[in-house]
Amino acid sequence: MLKYTEKIQEIAKRLLQEKKIDVFIGYKKGSVPMMNEPLLITDPDKADRLYWDNFCGLNLCNYLTRRTDKIGIVANGCNSRNIVTHIIENQIQRDQLYIVGIPCEGMIDHRAVMRAVKQKEISDIEQHGNTFTVKGADFEETFEKEKFLQTNCAVCIHRNPVIYDELLGDLVEEQTDVSPYQDVEKVEEMDPEKKQGFFTRLISRCIRCYACRNACPLCYCPTCFVDESKPQWVGKSSDPTDTMTFHLLRAYHCAGRCTDCGACERVCPMGISMRQFTKKLNKDCQDLFSWEAGLTVDQRPPLDVYRPDDYNEFIK
Ligand code: SF4
Ligand code: SF4
Ligand code: SF4
Repeated sequence: MLKYTEKIQEIAKRLLQEKKIDVFIGYKKGSVPMMNEPLLITDPDKADRLYWDNFCGLNLCNYLTRRTDKIGIVANGCNSRNIVTHIIENQIQRDQLYIVGIPCEGMIDHRAVMRAVKQKEISDIEQHGNTFTVKGADFEETFEKEKFLQTNCAVCIHRNPVIYDELLGDLVEEQTDVSPYQDVEKVEEMDPEKKQGFFTRLISRCIRCYACRNACPLCYCPTCFVDESKPQWVGKSSDPTDTMTFHLLRAYHCAGRCTDCGACERVCPMGISMRQFTKKLNKDCQDLFSWEAGLTVDQRPPLDVYRPDDYNEFIK
């Protein structure tokens, strides 16, 4: 993956020098290990600040919404699908974009790495092929990437970008032997009381910081329903009912749009797996409408179309 860094820098520099774009959106190496940050550059001489490795887990589509300039952007499988969603929802025009496609090998779960080194302070991480080496003041350990993937990446079946103008490398082989919804199926099997207990426990540590909402490129409403005060749709406190209302409504806003990029979960300071909500709706969209978000710009999402000949009786 590190091999991509140089290529991204070259492409960004070229596009900016030739004035084909006004801004390039990518990542820079984080100031602390495992925390790469989004980077927007307009000066070709600063292209060498761009960076890519398996810790680029934030979703850059957040920076696309309602822009009017010409933009270069890096995009792996899930992020390219969020770009498609942005195009379908008229948040950006296709001809404004130069998409640098990245065949993705998955992101490493920083929390799993911290657990593996028993929460010791990490000063550096080096990546080489299928392994990475973690270094601290009095330790150095090498791990296999495969065993440390984020939970969404471990079951991802769209690692290659679905839309791009230039590709950084050979397409990767898509995973075919994974069951993306095993965790959801387990919850579906629970009786209503158990389900309620499961979701209540899931969000019991939520502090309503809204980092999950802010990290998600689908949450682009000018005013979020949780911030409205006239009328106030949901209480501002961390009362369990208010918190549950926030999570349920946010998940429904993402129905048919979520690409399971994992950015929401990655940024949660409390380590909450709130993808359990969105994944259930992704599964429902697939079961009910044979729909996965962001695979094509030629089809409207199921929740914004109506067909008089719909095969579902309840709609007629
Ligand atoms: S969800 Fe898929 S495309 Fe997205 S980072 Fe993970 S492996 Fe890559
Ligand atoms: S809800 Fe989470 S997983 Fe889905 S698109 Fe938003 S940030 Fe990505
Ligand atoms: S990021 Fe975590 S703690 Fe913050 S609102 Fe979302 S679920 Fe709650």
